[in-house]
Amino acid sequence: MVIVLKDNTPSQKVNELISSLEKKNVTANLVKGVHSTIIGLIGDTVHIDTEAILANDCVEKVQRVQEPYKNANRKFHPDDTVLDICGRKLGGNKLQVIAGPCSVESERQLLETAIACKKAGATMLRGGAFKPRTSPYSFQGLRKEGIELLLKAKKETGLPIVTEIMSLAHLYMFSDVDVIQVGARNMQNFELLKALGRCDKPILLKRGLSSTLEELLMSAEYIMSEGNTKVMLCERGIRTFEPMTRNTLDVSAVPLLKHKSHLPVVVDPSHATGIVKLVEPMSLAAVAAGCDALEIEVHCDPENALSDGSQQLTPDAFSKVMNKIKALAGFVGRPVDDGE
Ligand code: PEP
Ligand code: MN
Repeated sequence: MVIVLKDNTPSQKVNELISSLEKKNVTANLVKGVHSTIIGLIGDTVHIDTEAILANDCVEKVQRVQEPYKNANRKFHPDDTVLDICGRKLGGNKLQVIAGPCSVESERQLLETAIACKKAGATMLRGGAFKPRTSPYSFQGLRKEGIELLLKAKKETGLPIVTEIMSLAHLYMFSDVDVIQVGARNMQNFELLKALGRCDKPILLKRGLSSTLEELLMSAEYIMSEGNTKVMLCERGIRTFEPMTRNTLDVSAVPLLKHKSHLPVVVDPSHATGIVKLVEPMSLAAVAAGCDALEIEVHCDPENALSDGSQQLTPDAFSKVMNKIKALAGFVGRPVDDGE
């Protein structure tokens, strides 16, 4: 971290600042230049609050050199993190495809969809039991019953299940869930992240609607700093000025996150675009960009879906998309996990 001091700061003030900084377990090096004076901090600065330093009236500017995330940082953990989800490896040399309905609506809807997803080659099952809806009058999810139905579908298909948590108060219902999803709207629910950091389950952390990649990595850091290192990062599109798509898929986030972090990266082309026709090309773009997993919405009857009907693939359409994904994934050297 570099601290630039204001011109003509009395040396007594500089010395006071240096001794207060050195109480934070870092070494402060004073460099007096012709035009300005700077203090370079050496050591672990993640705990140092730049705003507090800036509050000092002799400080002109504070610049971080090190990234503020440590556990999620590839610099401190060069090897890729590989998560084990019921024996399936996410983050390794196989591509995982998480598929299933936006919402769990009924036993028939979920089972029919889950069986079709498995047949097409999906490797995990998604389904929302708690739904974050823009309107309180829209379908809110089957809640506890939805989780029970997912467990039933897991029994039927053998597919591990991924479902979203919206409140800390519901955590006790997730004990048999294989992957807990934190949705875009909760990416910065820090108390929820800290609590998930104290549980021993893989967490699929979605990027917030208007969040930077550093903010996403800092949210992963919240979970990891509490002890749970089983985190995957999910690019699900961000809000831009473009109204023709629901969001804009930031494909560049994939290689960038993989460069900055050792955590696996998932791409959700369904919420990223909101348009059925775009799910295939964006899935392929994500695979080509190097993602570790895709999360795709599939519904046995999208026209009558209780949420996100316009972006959910029919089982037939999903099967066709899967064939393309399988071909490309094999070509880029990360084949779809076939359980072998
Ligand atoms: C979802 O995956 O069901 C969902 C609500 O996604 P997001 O949080 O990305 O909007
Ligand atoms: Mn959805």
